[in-house]
Amino acid sequence: MNSYDVTIVGGGPAGLMAAIAAAQQQVNVALIEKGNMLGRKLRISGGGRCNVTNGKPLDEIIKNVPGNGKFLYSTLHQFNNQDIIRFFEGLGIPLKEEDRGRMFPATDQAKTVVDALIRKMDKFGVAIITGDPVKDIVFKEHVHTLSLTSGKTIHTKTVILATGGCSMPKTGSTGDGYTWAKKAGHTITDLYPTAVPLTANNDYIQNHSLQGLSLRNITLTLLNPKGKKIIQEEGDMIFTHFGISGPAVLRISHYVSITRKKFNNLPLSLTIDLFPHLNIEMVEKDLQQLKETNEKKALKNALKNYVPERLLTLLIQLIECEDTLTMTQVSKDKLQKLALLMKNFPLTITGTLPLELATVTGGGVHIKEINPKTMESRLTKGLYFAGEIMDVHAHTGGYNITVAFSTGYTAGHSAALECLV
Ligand SMILES: Cc1cc2nc3c(=O)[nH]c(=O)nc-3n(C[C@H](O)[C@H](O)[C@H](O)COP(=O)(O)OP(=O)(O)OC[C@H]3O[C@@H](n4cnc5c(N)ncnc54)[C@H](O)[C@@H]3O)c2cc1C
Repeated sequence: MNSYDVTIVGGGPAGLMAAIAAAQQQVNVALIEKGNMLGRKLRISGGGRCNVTNGKPLDEIIKNVPGNGKFLYSTLHQFNNQDIIRFFEGLGIPLKEEDRGRMFPATDQAKTVVDALIRKMDKFGVAIITGDPVKDIVFKEHVHTLSLTSGKTIHTKTVILATGGCSMPKTGSTGDGYTWAKKAGHTITDLYPTAVPLTANNDYIQNHSLQGLSLRNITLTLLNPKGKKIIQEEGDMIFTHFGISGPAVLRISHYVSITRKKFNNLPLSLTIDLFPHLNIEMVEKDLQQLKETNEKKALKNALKNYVPERLLTLLIQLIECEDTLTMTQVSKDKLQKLALLMKNFPLTITGTLPLELATVTGGGVHIKEINPKTMESRLTKGLYFAGEIMDVHAHTGGYNITVAFSTGYTAGHSAALECLV
């Protein structure tokens, strides 16, 4: 049969959930995936363990979606993180909660999640076509026509575009869906990398002297070129050969992309506070005490338990001190400068890694053109969207997959109901 009620393009988390939600309503459902394998990105998500959702309360979930989180109120009331937890428990896949509310399958294997979704689709009789990319879609009221690369043609009453963004294209997300959305009259907002490492041009980044050094529980503060604070994020980070990465950095990257765009790609200042829970006077006092109790020790030895050694060597250079000076020889002024640097270690951010290397794509199908209660296009009847193809993106921590599952559920359920009336 080449005729369906609901046809989903894309076998990522949004598409898989859409297929299940639609099939639950006992309509004919097909899911078409261009790759030979379903859920390729899902399989590598969360370091291969699949950070399926986040256990935080709903308002926190929305706060962790910097890209149009408010668009999600309605869909999250239909299917939210607690529903995701219950859904997987119902499939015999209990989830466990880790730091910052991140939830993983108890097996620690993404494969468990993908296999359970496939079993559920099979149970509901979803027609699954893999290894056959959709080439074109012709939208026509009541019957849309999909042409597949193999030459097959599919007629469908409703179609759900769940083709993802265009980051990590080797997983199959190459932005194909944007072309058809445009064809259906939609606006695609500017695409940009989010949840992505940052590049910096300071000498100490360029000469790789800090490469591989991780810092835990620091605070990052991003400033715009006028010196105004844009955002502050707490967490862990790592220095890389091109700049910085790690959870706190990925969370700040959305603001780097949009601020640089606003200021014609000018470099941005970012400071690292090594001791967010101490004010500068407290750090100065600590350093003064270390001076008094380690009078004869060299500066770099006296402070080696206070900050990581490699960073300390650099800080001592930056305050223009000989690291062999004994603590008694270090002036109060130099210790104050050191404290200031520890509270405001400067980086000049020149950008992010490219979209292909980003975890998530910012931008996409304009949300004003999508009904938030159903995920249906406001412009083309019978066309629905789900997941990262839309101009919605979240921080890492299970929030993007939550968005994909929630919008996938709403799109699948609504498309099926449209076919039943
Ligand atoms: C390395 C990595 C780790 C991540 N870890 C996490 C995490 O732990 N937690 C989290 O919340 N998020 C994580 N994300 C983000 C998350 O995986 C994505 O936001 C999510 O997969 C988006 O789901 P989607 O279904 O919208 O799109 P995708 O998962 O991108 O799926 C889209 C599918 O559509 C298919 N497709 C595209 N074009 C066609 C076509 N022409 N015909 C047929 N099929 C087509 C693609 O092959 C693809 O399988 C991670 C992302 C990456 C890259």
